[in-house]
Amino acid sequence: MTYDKDWALRWLNDFGERVQENKQLLSDLDQAIGDGDHGINMARGLSELKKAFAEKEPADLKDVFKTAGMTMVSKVGGASGPLYGTAFLNMSKAIDSDTIDAVGLTKVIEAGLEGIEKRGKSHAGEKTMIDVWEPVVHALHQEDLTDDVVDAALQKTKDLKATKGRASYLGERSIGHLDPGAYSSALLFHAMIQTEVS
Ligand code: ADP
Ligand code: MG
Repeated sequence: MTYDKDWALRWLNDFGERVQENKQLLSDLDQAIGDGDHGINMARGLSELKKAFAEKEPADLKDVFKTAGMTMVSKVGGASGPLYGTAFLNMSKAIDSDTIDAVGLTKVIEAGLEGIEKRGKSHAGEKTMIDVWEPVVHALHQEDLTDDVVDAALQKTKDLKATKGRASYLGERSIGHLDPGAYSSALLFHAMIQTEVS
């Protein structure tokens, strides 16, 4: 498997479409345990990203994620903008060639996870997007990432008590709800899995 710039562009464009399609659902999930803006935040960021890609085609694979990171940081309010932004920027920094193989992709996604953990001062088990990113990285290391792995990780956030982000204000009452950021991250990785390699 070889992942190149065009693959990355197709992936992030597919992610953008999935976010637009699920905008209301993401906000509804956030309404239950947060402030109801996650769909709006993500949809804004991804539509700005589509514009950025159209205005200036990224120079290379590294630049795709740099553009994505800078757009999410600068255009998205809330916790999710800086977190996704840092993930994409760290992913960009982990790329040093025009194409990467499966091992390289694993390293890149792992760098994204580390960016979120550092920026969010968070780790797995706190009912955040990390609860999807971490099992995805684990599965990539096992060469066994599937849509089912992603969905299982997302569903597990339901039983967790939030200890980071706005949902943590609810304490025990956050239990029983899916985490919105975990949901949008599941969209990201479903898109990644489904994007055909050129
Ligand atoms: P806000 O919480 O500022 O309204 P969003 O609603 O866009 O921002 O995003 C909320 C999501 O961000 C949560 O569902 C969670 O997945 C993620 N999140 C919040 N805080 C953290 C953190 N410290 N570490 C990792 N993810 C976090
Ligand atoms: Mg919110």
